[in-house]
Amino acid sequence: AIPLVVAINTSLAARNGMLVRDRIAMEQARNLDAIIFDKTGTLTEGEHGVVGMETVDSVDQTEALALAAAVESDSEHMIARAIREAAAERDVSVPDASGFEAMKGRGVRATVSVSSEARGSSDASDGGQEVYVGGPNLLDYLDSEVPESLAAFADEAGENAQTVVYLVRDGDLVAAFAMADVIRDESYRVVEALHDIGIEVAMLTGDSADVANAVAEELGIDTVFAEVLPEDKDTKVQELQDEGKLVAMVGDGVNDAPALTRADVGIAIGSGTDVAVQSADVILVQNNPMDVVRLVKLSKASYRKMQ
Ligand code: ADP
Ligand code: MG
Repeated sequence: AIPLVVAINTSLAARNGMLVRDRIAMEQARNLDAIIFDKTGTLTEGEHGVVGMETVDSVDQTEALALAAAVESDSEHMIARAIREAAAERDVSVPDASGFEAMKGRGVRATVSVSSEARGSSDASDGGQEVYVGGPNLLDYLDSEVPESLAAFADEAGENAQTVVYLVRDGDLVAAFAMADVIRDESYRVVEALHDIGIEVAMLTGDSADVANAVAEELGIDTVFAEVLPEDKDTKVQELQDEGKLVAMVGDGVNDAPALTRADVGIAIGSGTDVAVQSADVILVQNNPMDVVRLVKLSKASYRKMQ
């Protein structure tokens, strides 16, 4: 009798925009103790427009934007798009760059060729500047610190849940960019609804602790994992599992794939990347975090029918 009920359950799920790849996981959803959400693009809109910037005295905003846009010219990341757009809006002419390197969960690096005009000097021997753009994990990696003159700007942005990335040129941190991201309306109801059915809500992000804590506090999220490198995301899932919890992970990015695999219930949301979709047990077709609540409720309801 079970296969029949499961079949009904699966097609019901499909009608609700849920594609079930692993039926056992779908059944387990009724017993979840904790759900971990990826922050950016899942609980937040993830539309990162540049809303502010600050530079050290020796560098002006146009130069900082030009360098940042050059380094980001090869990246598909939302942050990269926002920086390129900000440069375009201000008609900044973007210098050539080469040797692009994407540093997962940290940022990007490239060599930017410098015209003497942009540099304000004419050092012909200059083979280009080594430029990085990235967040706190990049600064850790470079062993670089936010200078006093940028600290207040960065702190304030963080408190407002804005993502901050830094520009490091030839070893010097010379500018900070603040990006707006907005919490999705649905996210408030998701956290509330999950709490109502006794599920712990956690958030996992590569973003700074400042931003993560601001978002978590606003939403009433119980557990926060911030500044997590992509390769460490699955160990955060494991941490909760080691506490004896049955854990679901909700994510959309390539970064999230190992965590989706590790979770007892891996949920890919939205169009997602192929890798995320292939690692998930359930795919939520629409990018609506409320569907996570529906999924749990559907699993609970189906199971009651089966008994
Ligand atoms: P998330 O965990 O929110 O999905 P990612 O792992 O994609 O985030 O990125 C984590 C952090 O790494 C970002 O918040 C940012 O600080 C930095 N980062 C990643 N890619 C870039 C980029 N192209 N430019 C600047 N910073 C980046
Ligand atoms: Mg992501």
